[in-house]
Order: sequence, then structure tokens, then C-alpha cells
Amino acid sequence: MLLEVVLPLHPSSTPPLLRWFRNLALSALALGAAFSASTLSWAASRALEIRPESGMLSSLGTPVWAQWVITFLTLDAIAYALHRISHHVNWLWRLHSVHHSDPELDATTTHRHHPVENVITALISLPVLLVLAPPVWAVLTYSMTAVVISTLSHSSLALPDGLDKVLRNFIVTPAYHRTHHSAERIQTDSNYATVLPLFDRLFRSASPAAPDKGRALTIGLETARDARSQSLWALLMAPFRRSTTSTKPLEG
Ligand SMILES: [Zn+2]
Repeated sequence: MLLEVVLPLHPSSTPPLLRWFRNLALSALALGAAFSASTLSWAASRALEIRPESGMLSSLGTPVWAQWVITFLTLDAIAYALHRISHHVNWLWRLHSVHHSDPELDATTTHRHHPVENVITALISLPVLLVLAPPVWAVLTYSMTAVVISTLSHSSLALPDGLDKVLRNFIVTPAYHRTHHSAERIQTDSNYATVLPLFDRLFRSASPAAPDKGRALTIGLETARDARSQSLWALLMAPFRRSTTSTKPLEG
């Protein structure tokens, strides 16, 4: 957030304090929900006596370095797949659109998710972890990397042109992810990657780089611009409303 002040990609057009409060309050609820779901799954794995030695990676005798690579790629692939599905299944989009309804983009947008979306993500990801039983340090390293890259990619940070051009080949940059938060649906339904843009290239969901690092893009959802739809209560209730801020996503 300090870097955003020094090198802003797009200065905030509204006083940010209220928006920051809402984003951070929603983040606290969403992270609390994810933590609760993870703790419950951990307790269930203990009760079922699921042990790392019985996991697929250990059973196949996979070398430790390969376990780390498989863990990193698998977790990032799950994040990519869940994200892409969330844009194309109506009830998942209702939850995920809370993240997209932020009319500005900065570091506080990173964890602005509906708590139910985070519970679903945890409940889908954890069984995969239980089956693979990867090294715990590999999971933690991926999780920490994902938090750092996600915070960077949501931030309003203007990286130098040359650096952005090189970095976007390997990791998701602020300019790369800004396109995903565009109000234009064709751009929203692209650039889904969390850490590695590789998955967008592999599955043909990468958008061409927007001119001027996407500064001119309108961010957010056209249907959620008024102050009422941005209150904390409205954001929590949005997925369950008949006329929600979200609209049915495009097919494809
Ligand atoms: Zn999205």
C-alpha cells in the first residue's frame, strides 16, 4: 500500500477510507470463513486418521523436489480452474461477483471475497490436498506466494514498462490482472491466473495487454456502482438477492 502511494497505477477517484474499511471488513470475514473450513477439514482428517505417508505422492515414491513442483502446479491449477468456473456457473458467479464489484482496484481488493465463496474454495481444495498429502512446507510456500502475488496483482502499482513486460511472462502483474477487473465482460472473462499466467496461455484465456497498463479501463461491475450496493450488508446479501448486482455470465 505504501508502494501504491509512491508509484500509483491509477489514483483513487473517491476518498478511499470507507472503501478500505469495507474491503478489509469483508476480507476479515472471508479469511475467517476459510480458516474455519480449513480447521474443520484438518480435524476431520485427524478423526479419519489420514496420514501424509498414505498420500498419493509418498506412495508413488515421488522425489521431494518433484513433490514440491507437483504441489505448486496442482494448487495453482486448482485456483485457475475454480476461478474460471466461478465466471461461468451462475450461482458461483453471484458469490464471486462480490469480488468484482469493487469499483476501484488496489491491495485492499485482494481478499474482498464473499465468505461463502472462500468456504467453497477451501472445501474443494482440501480433499485434493488430503489425497496428494504433499509436504506441508510446499503447501505453505505456495500459499504465501499466492498471497504475495495476489496482493501485488490487485495493487494499484505502476511497474516500469520493461519490468512488467518481463514479469508478466512468469507471474501475474498489476497490469495483467487489471484487465480481469474491467467492467467489459469479454475482458472480465480472461486473465484468470492467480500466480502463473502459464495456465491462461495453456487454456487460451489470456487477453492481449491493455494499452497504458489498463489505466483507461473502467473497473468493477456496471450494475454495482451506487453507494447502496457497496455497503457491507449489501455485499454480504448480494448473492442471495433476486435482483442481485451480478448478472448471468456469458457462456463459453
Ligand atoms: Zn474473477
